[in-house]
Amino acid sequence: MKTFEVAVIGGGLAGMIAAVALGRGGRNVALIAPSAPREDRRTTALMDQSIRFLDRLTLWDRLKPAASPLATMRIIDGTNRLLRAPTATFRSAEVGLEAFGYNFPNRALMDVLEAAVATEGNITRFTAFADAIEVSADRVAITLSDGEAMVADFAIGADGRKSKLRETVGIDTRNWSYPQSAMVLNFAHSLPHESISTEFHTESGPFTQVPLPGRRSSLVWVQNPSDAQARSELSLAELSNVVEERMQSLLGKVTVEEGVQIWPLSSMMAHRSGKGRVALIGEAAHVFPPIGAQGLNLSLRDVMALTDILCARLELPIAADTGNQFDRKRRADIMTRTASVDVLNRSLLSDFLPMQVLRAAGLHILAAVPPFRSIVMREGIEPGRGFRDIPAAIRERLGRKKA
Ligand SMILES: Cc1cc2nc3c(=O)[nH]c(=O)nc-3n(C[C@H](O)[C@H](O)[C@H](O)COP(=O)(O)OP(=O)(O)OC[C@H]3O[C@@H](n4cnc5c(N)ncnc54)[C@H](O)[C@@H]3O)c2cc1C
Repeated sequence: MKTFEVAVIGGGLAGMIAAVALGRGGRNVALIAPSAPREDRRTTALMDQSIRFLDRLTLWDRLKPAASPLATMRIIDGTNRLLRAPTATFRSAEVGLEAFGYNFPNRALMDVLEAAVATEGNITRFTAFADAIEVSADRVAITLSDGEAMVADFAIGADGRKSKLRETVGIDTRNWSYPQSAMVLNFAHSLPHESISTEFHTESGPFTQVPLPGRRSSLVWVQNPSDAQARSELSLAELSNVVEERMQSLLGKVTVEEGVQIWPLSSMMAHRSGKGRVALIGEAAHVFPPIGAQGLNLSLRDVMALTDILCARLELPIAADTGNQFDRKRRADIMTRTASVDVLNRSLLSDFLPMQVLRAAGLHILAAVPPFRSIVMREGIEPGRGFRDIPAAIRERLGRKKA
């Protein structure tokens, strides 16, 4: 029977990146990953911290040609409410960066990962499903859908929101849904986007345009499910007009491309991210609405934490409580991000006046008060960075005042 140090179950973006990171970190990895579907037309925006991680894994140079920088982020209050917030504009140069992050088609990252996995000597790929999994105190035994069997010292569940590994070890989840769907599409436009991403806040959710290379952008439009359905039935020419009107023609003439998708909005959080010889990453551990580009960024922080734990002392056997260590390390970040996406989304949906006051006041402060802007921008790029940088920001301001 084949034996491995680590088995990664699931070959979505999270699982593929975990396999590459652990393989390059020196572990002997089994990647159990049926081929990814070719039709994923979504794009993903990864923030600076994630891009630096891809760079350390030598994946970024190959992905960069397919990616567009996000140098400016603009939030426009597109509601018809009494209390409307001012437009808030954030520039990456304000925090000393060329870009907050980059946006690229999921397919482009998957192609780069497939090539990396194929050439990484520490990874053995199995293009089958994990069919039966047994976890004991000293190993994990896995039987694949094609009958092959293997054992590993440790297993990583990157097998999505219905994770079989999570179910096998009896980790419960909390699930909730929102009365919204996300319409996801890509479009060409006649004016350049100048690396600006614009988010219109509307009563039914955010309408977010994110730049792609050239005169193209992607759109995640969160709306009422029946409106999303009706709009998805329009011809591409009609939908292009609707999108252009919503964009207030900021990007000129819009041409929506084939492949409009609708994603019902829901969230899920596993009660824990690991125990014993098992860790859960990506959507096996946390799912939330595609608002604020959080999902894969959070998953990459899962992978970074796991790589730190599993690759720090390669000469030692993998400890039986590694999953517990991982859970402790990841809990605060996962809870904070899940809660902040939830609050942001609900603050838009709510007609409750105090909530509207808070939302508008929050955006006012962000638009007008530089130290808050700076903290929020740094926090958005990398958790902890905004607060870590406060002393430096204060010193910088005091220095400026003296000068
Ligand atoms: C519309 C939309 C837009 C988004 N935009 C962004 C963004 O801009 N920025 C961002 O950071 N995040 C974004 N996200 C989130 C991001 O796409 C996901 O977090 C990311 O794709 C990670 O998914 P995953 O690999 O965990 O899960 P999945 O993609 O679901 O992969 C799970 C894999 O496991 C496999 N699998 C399942 N069961 C088994 C088994 N028994 N054995 C073996 N394999 C198995 C499946 O076949 C699948 O390939 C977005 C999400 C959506 C829905």
